[in-house]
Amino acid sequence: MTEFTYDVVIIGSGASGTTVAFEAQAAGLKVAIVEERSWGGTCVLRGCDPKKVLVGAAEARNLSTRLRGKGIKEEATISWTDLMAFKETFVEDVPESRLESFQEAGIETFFVPASFQNENTLQVGNDILNAKKIVIATGATPNTLKVEGQEHIQTSDDFLSLEKLPDSVVFIGGGYISFEFASIALAAGRDVHIIHHNSEPLKKFDPDFVAALVATLKEEGIHFHFDTDITKITKNSEKLHIEGKNSFSLETDLIIGATGRTPNIAHLALEKANIDYTKKGITVNEKLQTTNHAHIYACGDVAATKGAPLTPVVSMEAALVAKNILGGNEKIDYPAIPSVVFTSPKLASIGISMEEATANPEKYQIKNHDTTKWYTYRRTNEKIALAKIIEDRKTGQIKGAHFLSEEADYMINYVAILMKANLTLADLQSVIFAYPSPASDLTALN
Ligand SMILES: Cc1cc2nc3c(=O)[nH]c(=O)nc-3n(C[C@H](O)[C@H](O)[C@H](O)COP(=O)(O)OP(=O)(O)OC[C@H]3O[C@@H](n4cnc5c(N)ncnc54)[C@H](O)[C@@H]3O)c2cc1C
Repeated sequence: MTEFTYDVVIIGSGASGTTVAFEAQAAGLKVAIVEERSWGGTCVLRGCDPKKVLVGAAEARNLSTRLRGKGIKEEATISWTDLMAFKETFVEDVPESRLESFQEAGIETFFVPASFQNENTLQVGNDILNAKKIVIATGATPNTLKVEGQEHIQTSDDFLSLEKLPDSVVFIGGGYISFEFASIALAAGRDVHIIHHNSEPLKKFDPDFVAALVATLKEEGIHFHFDTDITKITKNSEKLHIEGKNSFSLETDLIIGATGRTPNIAHLALEKANIDYTKKGITVNEKLQTTNHAHIYACGDVAATKGAPLTPVVSMEAALVAKNILGGNEKIDYPAIPSVVFTSPKLASIGISMEEATANPEKYQIKNHDTTKWYTYRRTNEKIALAKIIEDRKTGQIKGAHFLSEEADYMINYVAILMKANLTLADLQSVIFAYPSPASDLTALN
């Protein structure tokens, strides 16, 4: 056993832990980072980045399908093997290069699980680390559905490294991961099902646009089974058999569970350091300090903050933790956060919900546009393109927006800038956008 002492020890090398580590090191502090799985964390290895590579192939296939007979002869087909090999080029070097960049920066690294011994001391494998400040940035892992035969359910981690995509795939859960993966598997020509326990998937998005997305994906071939509670999964020969309440029954080759994520706190021995937590994660104040200790911080997916578990959000939290470690006294203040479901079409939202906007008609004006027939969307033969802009009635400033189209991710980012700058759509009349482009449609949403 060796004992080390640091100014800051960070547990977890994902987007949040990495941000804190580099900032603290750059300011001259003695920093160590601990990782138990692979250097780099979820986004780059098992989340956003590999997923978006697969989304790219789905986009290419879907565009070729939409333009077939309109200048394109053949529908593109996805080779899963080639696609996974391409995806791997984005992932395979990450752990080593992340480790090297820590080492080059002078950040000390420990590749073992960390747990608390007390509020200043961590057990890290056989070593003991003493630290003036500790940052818990341990992220989250996929939930397991508690059901008979649950061992047959695989996770998003498995989906993103599948060597072979079988003919039939069932996704359990009505969140964005299920929808995105289902859209990818559909583009790859598979028989795809989504099972959800209630009838409200993608709860954080505009219900009208969710309904339009579900209808479009249904038409494209995804089978939705809402209000379906799974009771049992069995495996006979090569097939998996799903049973549910009300005589539900379905046979498939692969089941991916995407029923939420649990903060990684179970193995941290938080009670030894008297750190409070709930099932939503580690309890923190607005400075992202844990409730009983000003010197222990938590950020990212493991922290029970108001921020969504999304990479740009966890990076923002981490940047604040770094500032506070370096003597700051800042409170987290989230701007409007855009979120996107990378299906085909994509669904995006930012700012206040439609529910809030419609409940306060004296305060908000909703501009509702069916843009399907607009040039931008006809050019690529999109089936559906919808937009809603929510404005403050008095100032005209944008308070929220919702999009459903292949360009929804770009549109929501433009709106994020407008919201940050407190600009109105009318202000854009004096901006010249490159034409034709999705941005040049913005002024017409007024
Ligand atoms: C399939 C999928 C798709 C996603 N797509 C998007 C997207 O498109 N856009 C977006 O913004 N976000 C997306 N996300 C969410 C995003 O990936 C996460 O919000 C983000 O990666 C969380 O970063 P983090 O630093 O909090 O945690 P993580 O990146 O999970 O890092 C935590 C690290 O801590 C380590 N660890 C845990 N416990 C210990 C311990 N006791 N000791 C040592 N190390 C430990 C873990 O091994 C892990 O490496 C996606 C997530 C998934 C799963």
